[in-house]
Amino acid sequence: MQRESRKVSRRRFLKEATGAVGAASALTILKPRWVRGAEKEIGVVVLLGPPGAGKSEQSRRLTARHSIPIISTGDLLRDQVRRGTQLGLQADTYMKAGQLVPDSLMNPILEDRLSQPDCARGFILDGYPRTLAQAESLDVLLKRQGLPPHIILLEVPTERLFKLLTGRRVCPRCNRSYNIYFQPPQKENLCDADGTTLVQRPDDKEEVIRRRLDTYQKETQPAIEYYARQGRLVRVNGNQPPEKVAAELEVKIASP
Ligand code: ADP
Repeated sequence: MQRESRKVSRRRFLKEATGAVGAASALTILKPRWVRGAEKEIGVVVLLGPPGAGKSEQSRRLTARHSIPIISTGDLLRDQVRRGTQLGLQADTYMKAGQLVPDSLMNPILEDRLSQPDCARGFILDGYPRTLAQAESLDVLLKRQGLPPHIILLEVPTERLFKLLTGRRVCPRCNRSYNIYFQPPQKENLCDADGTTLVQRPDDKEEVIRRRLDTYQKETQPAIEYYARQGRLVRVNGNQPPEKVAAELEVKIASP
């Protein structure tokens, strides 16, 4: 049932995309490679799920397997903050408070990144959309590019999320993340990959986490319902070991 409606909605997405652009680019859009099936290309994967559900971990696995870039809006924003740009300075206030960065700051940063050549074949989107308005903006953007996305929801029970978030530690050098309860590094508080001391992100503090989970319920849930209503949402059980989540994800992405 669900498979059939997803197929139909992906077809409709492509059809609308071809109607929305000029004839020359429509030709390329009409036959994206993964539709022809010559190569196993997955195109765009949108990873949805509450904070702490393991979107970054699954992104890393997908990128290793399919050689498409990870576009993490959290990382894009943190990069702006690190570089001290005007956008970064403005975004920082919201991020520290565990609030969503306004679309007027977020969308230009994302659009700019998605227009880079390495995104032409597809990409993994982690952390966007987070609101209904962002889901609609993304549809417009992807239709323009002729890329019907796989919309994946990583589902994790709320009670587990809190521990997942408060226990999270990240490597400031390579961005790899760990969890002191569920996925500790081999040596206490040191990154397995490069030995750097792990840190807790400022937005992983307890009161901020409560606010982030709250924001997810209020803001992101409507975006999820938007996809579900259209039969485009693919649910993956995120409450299992990362390799099992990855396996389930691969199977579901491979089916049309
Ligand atoms: P997590 O997925 O654990 O919440 P992220 O790294 O994705 O963490 O995001 C960190 C912060 O960056 C968010 O709390 C929010 O302030 C901001 N942010 C990330 N993505 C978006 C987005 N799509 N829209 C608005 N703000 C965002």
